[in-house]
Order: sequence, then C-alpha cells, then structure tokens
Amino acid sequence: MEHPENDKQYKGLQVNSGVGSQPVVNPYRAAMRRKRVELSAGDYVEGILKGDVSILGRAVTLIESTNERHQAIAQEVIEKCLPYSGKSRRIGITGVPGAGKSTSIDVFGLHIVRQGHRLAVLAIDPSSERTKGSILGDKTRMEKLSQEKDAFIRPSPSAGSLGGVARKTRETIVLCEAAGYDRIIVETVGVGQSETAVHSMVDFFLLIQLAGTGDELQGIKRGIMEMADGIVINKCDGDNVERAKLAASQFRNALFLFPPSPSKWKPEVLTYSGYYEIGIDLVWDMIDRYFDFVIANGYFERKRNEQAKYWMMETINEQLRNHFYGIPEVRALLEQKELRVLNNEQSSFTAAKDVLDFYFKRLRGE
Ligand code: GDP
Repeated sequence: MEHPENDKQYKGLQVNSGVGSQPVVNPYRAAMRRKRVELSAGDYVEGILKGDVSILGRAVTLIESTNERHQAIAQEVIEKCLPYSGKSRRIGITGVPGAGKSTSIDVFGLHIVRQGHRLAVLAIDPSSERTKGSILGDKTRMEKLSQEKDAFIRPSPSAGSLGGVARKTRETIVLCEAAGYDRIIVETVGVGQSETAVHSMVDFFLLIQLAGTGDELQGIKRGIMEMADGIVINKCDGDNVERAKLAASQFRNALFLFPPSPSKWKPEVLTYSGYYEIGIDLVWDMIDRYFDFVIANGYFERKRNEQAKYWMMETINEQLRNHFYGIPEVRALLEQKELRVLNNEQSSFTAAKDVLDFYFKRLRGE
C-alpha cells in the first residue's frame, strides 16, 4: 500500500517500502498459534475419545476454570464423555507428608503401566495453590512415571473449597476414563478431611503408613483406618525392616477390633519399600484380589451406584450454596443478621428464616 506520507503535501519526503515480516519458518510455531483457537465441546470429546493427551489436558483445565463459559463447555464435554466412562479401577492413596506417597506412586505406576495398563494420577489437595507449587500430583515428584507415554499425571486443582476441588477431580476421572485410562490413582494427604472426599470417588482406598515413631496407632485417625481397604507400611528396608514388621502386626491387631466392612473384604496389612522397590508386586496383587472379591460379591457395583448418588447430591448442594452466597444482597443481609444474633436482638432461627425468605422472594422476582 502506498504510504500516506508520500503525498505531495509532504515535500521532500520519500518513504520507501520497508522489509515485510518474514513468513513463518518454524512450522511448530505456526501449529502453536493454531492451537490457541478455541475448541468446541464436540472437538474436545472427539480428541478425548481418541486419547489425545493434549486435548485431555486442555479439557481438564476447562473443568478447573472458574470462567462461566469454560464451565459450560466443560459440563457438556463431561456429559458426552459419561457413556464412555466408568470402566477403570479407581484407587485412592493417602498418607501423611513424608510417608512416601510420590515415591510409591512412581513405582506403583511403572508396575501398572508395564502390565499394559494406562494410568492417570490425579490429586486432591484443597490447600494447594499453583503459584506456591502444589504438593501433590506433581510431575517432578514422579520422575520415572512422568516419562511414560501411558501415564497421565495431573496436579491437584488449585486451592478452593474441598467440595469444589473434589468435584473437579471427580469430573476429571470421567474424562480420563473416556480417554482410555483404565487405572486411576487419586492421591491425597492423610491429614485432613480430604480422605473422605477421595474415599467417595474410588473403589479401593490404600493407606500408606510409616513405622518407627513408637506411637503409630495413636497418630492415625480411627476414621481413616476404617476407610482403608489396605494398609501398607512403607520404608521396610535397611535397619527399618523389623520395626516395619512390628508396626504391621500392630495394625493387624488393631484392625481386628474394627467392625466388618460393608464390602466383607478384610483389609490387609503389608510392608514394602517404595524407594528400593521391594514388595511392590505384593501390594498390587492385594489390590487385584480386592477387585476380584468385590466384583464377584456385587459390592463393586453397589458402591459405584452409591457414589453416583452421593455426587449428584454434593453437586446440588454445592451449586445451591454458590448461588445463595453469590448474591451480594444476601451476603449483606447475612452480615446484618449476624450482628443482631450476636447482640441477642434476634434468635438464630428467625434470622435464618428472614435471610432465606429474602432469598426465595428474590428468586420468585417479588
Ligand atoms: P510424600 O510426601 O508422602 O509424597 O513422600 P515422598 O515420596 O516425597 O518421600 C518422603 C521421603 O521419604 C523422601 O526423602 C523419600 O526419598 C523417602 N522415601 C520414600 N520411600 C522410601 C522407602 O521406601 N524407603 C526409604 N528408606 N525412604 C523412602
């Protein structure tokens, strides 16, 4: 195009045409640019069903996004993937920090992949924040596994309410299964409430324990032990072997006192070493035996059905809560009412009723 300053009114000025921008020489760069194009829900589903890892990863990012439009696409993708999901074995792994979760998942994962399975490792850690570097499900913590093409490792969705983080992981499981991953590991730290959330989305719950602190049994919440289908004592190597075996027998005795689990499966206690890769196959044999057992006695399906109901209710509860607390006027009224309740000017119940009345009236557009 002729440059405007070449017009006669700019006397003595001559603008030559410069060097145009070079064509893209690096085809990968061009491909990267193309990638940024937004995909439709159908594109995502097609990619996922083909087992395209990069599309799967992007779809998981949509699930994790708080953007409403992303959420809408994510929900459509999940819905369309549902008929292709459910065919994996889902295993929850918990243990206190330092118990050896990542070391163990790294070697468990290799064991699984070498058996010809495709494995997805997900995590639930409501305390994590991406920017601070999440603790769980981090690829750098699972160096060997992260190089396997049949392993998909995804860190915990970043901080949020436990319910929200757990729901996202639950939804991610659906996509991973649709993408052909037939083994799913969900990792969580055994210190808070997150085990319950993990328990509600897995078939088998593995508790990693350590020996040698002298107060093994006291340190563990009874509830977590009751949820466990298997307890494994890690770091059974070197000088630690005897102590690990002793801890195992203490756990066996403790489990004896527990009521039988609804699955009728008797939780087993094993020792192993994640670091030296001793006893890995035994741990996995136990898990396989569990699946054979619960599939045969019908518990596997019953539990899956209960979990599906649970997640429906959880999702309803979460959405209702979000909607309720998402209305600024409701929050303002709540603050006022809180003061009145604290000052003994109104009872908790009438205050709650007033806020709910306000909310329902607003819903009806009154
Ligand atoms: P996480 O916090 O539960 O994920 O634990 P890590 O896997 O990061 O392990 C914590 C520490 O324990 C690391 O220094 C590991 O090298 C070490 N560790 C893990 N597994 C074993 C094991 O089987 N034997 C020994 N001796 N050390 C281990």
